[in-house]
Amino acid sequence: MPRTLERARLVAKLLLSEQAQCFHLTFTVPGKDRFDFAAGQFVSMVAPDAQGKIHTRAYSIASAPRENQFDLCLNRVEGGFFSNLLCDLEPGQTVDFHGPHGLFVLKEPLIDALLIATGTGVAPMRGFIEHLFPDAEQDRSGGRHFWLLYGTRHEPDIYYRRYFEKKAAEHPNFHYLPTLSRPHNGWEGLCGYVQTHVLRILERGMEVVGGEPREPVPQAAYICGLNDMVSANRELLTGRGWDKTQIHFERYD
Ligand SMILES: Cc1cc2nc3c(=O)[nH]c(=O)nc-3n(C[C@H](O)[C@H](O)[C@H](O)COP(=O)(O)OP(=O)(O)OC[C@H]3O[C@@H](n4cnc5c(N)ncnc54)[C@H](O)[C@@H]3O)c2cc1C
Repeated sequence: MPRTLERARLVAKLLLSEQAQCFHLTFTVPGKDRFDFAAGQFVSMVAPDAQGKIHTRAYSIASAPRENQFDLCLNRVEGGFFSNLLCDLEPGQTVDFHGPHGLFVLKEPLIDALLIATGTGVAPMRGFIEHLFPDAEQDRSGGRHFWLLYGTRHEPDIYYRRYFEKKAAEHPNFHYLPTLSRPHNGWEGLCGYVQTHVLRILERGMEVVGGEPREPVPQAAYICGLNDMVSANRELLTGRGWDKTQIHFERYD
């Protein structure tokens, strides 16, 4: 059955990283009071190319539900059709989509969890955090601990850094751990691939973020990004005896 297409209008565009050509885009869905979805889901964008061929690409929603709006976080892929179309879009212009879709959502009941992302794989994690910790007063985390382990190459590509740092400062059960695979001199944070730190967090839990050793440690993992990283982390966790029901993932390629 053909899917019902909806139309989204770009209302704001923010360059997150010049070097990575990564943008934060805010869309409204005109004619709707609300656009509902579960944090972590994606929308499928649909557009024809110059020859009239229709292309469809998935993009994780980088926000929690908010009236009739949703945010995306995406970067240009060299030679790519859809990423460039979206990154070239200007406020006021529209694009068709269907959705929301997907099962990469926070599982209830919530348990202490590790959120692992690289690059624009941070998009659904931003949605999770916005849902769990909407502001300094509101908290839907039920006191569960969430470790966001975010990997990228260079410091300017730590997307939403101030946002996550603020959330971590407001909520002691949210732990924000960016790690750089190509750190510059003077970087005092974590270095290396995300995998390097997963085991440390599993073994030492709160100690990694300056607390007492071990308690609590994550009991579930949500992983998002390119397949190589997702596979490496899934193997790491299953190698530690984790059951596949504890591991949730979204692959971008
Ligand atoms: C469920 C899901 C959610 C996604 N969410 C996001 C998101 O939030 N943000 C985001 O930026 N992308 C996301 N993606 C990836 C996105 O759908 C596109 O694949 C990406 O934007 C490239 O599309 P394109 O049309 O520009 O490139 P294409 O024309 O499809 O491909 C051009 C070339 O780039 C390679 N390529 C494809 N995707 C990537 C990539 N992600 N990185 C590097 N090389 C690639 C292809 O192998 C090909 O050689 C998601 C994918 C899935 C499946």
